Amino acid sequence: MIRLQGIAVSPGIAIGKVLVFDSGGFQIAKINCLKEQAPAELARFEEALQVTYEDIRLSSETVTAKLGGEYGAIFEAHLALLHDRKLLKKIRDAITEDHLVAESAVNEVFREYIRFFQGLGDEYLAERSNDMIDLGRRILHALRHEKKLPAQVSEKVILLANELTPSETVSMDKEMIQALVTERGGPSSHTAIVAEAMQIPAVVGVGEFLDRVSAGDQVIVDGNHGLIILDPDEATIRYYAYLEAQQQSIDDQLKMLRDESATTLDGVEIQLLGNIEFPAEAETCLEYGASGIGLYRTEFLYLSGGFPDEEEHYQAYRHVVETMNGRPVTIRTVDLGADKLLEHKVARPSSKDYYVEGEKNPGLGLRSIRLSLKRIELFRRQLRAIFRVSAIHPVKIMFPLVSTLTELRQAKMIVEDVKEDLREENIPYSDKVEIGIMVEVPSTVLMIDQFVSEVDFLSIGTNDLTQYTLAVDRTNREVVHLFNSCDPAILKLIVMTLEGAKKKGVPVSLCGQMSGNPLYTMLLLGLGLRTLSIAPRNIPEVKNICRGVNITHCKALARRVLLMERAGEIKGYLKSELRKLFPDPDDLLD
Ligand code: PEP
Ligand code: MG
Repeated sequence: MIRLQGIAVSPGIAIGKVLVFDSGGFQIAKINCLKEQAPAELARFEEALQVTYEDIRLSSETVTAKLGGEYGAIFEAHLALLHDRKLLKKIRDAITEDHLVAESAVNEVFREYIRFFQGLGDEYLAERSNDMIDLGRRILHALRHEKKLPAQVSEKVILLANELTPSETVSMDKEMIQALVTERGGPSSHTAIVAEAMQIPAVVGVGEFLDRVSAGDQVIVDGNHGLIILDPDEATIRYYAYLEAQQQSIDDQLKMLRDESATTLDGVEIQLLGNIEFPAEAETCLEYGASGIGLYRTEFLYLSGGFPDEEEHYQAYRHVVETMNGRPVTIRTVDLGADKLLEHKVARPSSKDYYVEGEKNPGLGLRSIRLSLKRIELFRRQLRAIFRVSAIHPVKIMFPLVSTLTELRQAKMIVEDVKEDLREENIPYSDKVEIGIMVEVPSTVLMIDQFVSEVDFLSIGTNDLTQYTLAVDRTNREVVHLFNSCDPAILKLIVMTLEGAKKKGVPVSLCGQMSGNPLYTMLLLGLGLRTLSIAPRNIPEVKNICRGVNITHCKALARRVLLMERAGEIKGYLKSELRKLFPDPDDLLD
């Protein structure tokens, strides 16, 4: 039994079998088996060969049906290779005579062939080596009982990967994936956010461990504490099964707060809104008692594998607003770029799409509002859909990652342009759509007095604000210890934002991951925030805290925190204060 500590990013406990998702290709060590194990290894290989054969046949049929016979024929080459006696004999000999395990035998022989083809200096034959690479991968996938994509798994599994992109995560079948664990990644990465949205327990940033597991091994994932347990014994499995049941009953109790307001003991009402990534999460928001949606991350319309036209945008927004039935809804315009990159397959070969290639530093590159201002047609398409929805339901528009006044002004000019077009086309829309921005870059806070004269509302995005203020990549486990949203520097920026907004009476909410962490609830209320936008599942716990504190106490707590100089000190103090009021608070993470 091996315990590994990672970063808890999506709560819940899962006990199940492992599937290793290896998106990067195959790297297999040369491993021998005992002589007497060789027949079993050979049988594994023969079985994998059959699975691969079937798999290719199916791919060929699907592609032929979709694109025609000439494309289906691409797979003929693979099928021919699978029948190559010499190739197969070499692999079988490597198992039965050299006593290599099946994976190593396949790897060794295929590498030998690939090197040979590539070394011939013939373009056509070098191309053939790609067929070999592809085929080798397929057999290895079959050997490890892996399917090509996690979306295609046919039994419930716990998915382990070196790293997952947000779009890979989105494409998963959440009914089949019991939990996710990655070697890399940080707490505020979008992969983590997506896992939470999909309600899949997840642990990221575990460090290298994949070489210690094989497909089918049993593992426990504790998404509340960021723990994974490989090869657990019976007693540990029983203990976690008990915890899982207990967690369910706590969740059920908290959910009973759904229809209660988040009013503090001294009568101050706190607005708790939901953060969503997918339209279907509007229902989740209601289930968990959100009083509206404070952040709809619309880029997931693209990251889910689509390339939405205006009507698809419109239908998605319409579903959300109709579900929310009169409650406030803030739609954030597309925030692609940085770690939310489109895959090649989604992008169109047009200069107008949202695909960005070859940036050395995408976190500082063409992302978010910058991208929308460059791909104006796509931006207009989204704005038109939002305004059309505004005719049936009040919505607000929020721009992400605005870092200069010029960007805000340009975006607002395009808004006016879109409205004019709709007027000319006699398409109804509301003239009362409020326009706001995310506060995610230090420059925006430094210029907050100017910004507040030009926006209707602000929402503080502490994920990016922390990343850009402390110069800490939010997706990088190596610097995760430096990623502290309660760092005194970040708290100063939050205070400056609140003070700037107050001068003009501009409402402010906070929608970074920090808002859903109960550790910070008292602090945020004490700093003056009255609206928090949170991943829906965290709402009940935060609501429970709001209902059990009074603002006078929170203000005193915040004053004390603002005198502190280190994030560690602040966290320790907040933890002890929270424990005094709510014994044994669990899964406190940043
Ligand atoms: C943030 O940066 O805090 C935020 C809410 O936006 P996102 O996590 O989508 O970047
Ligand atoms: Mg952000």
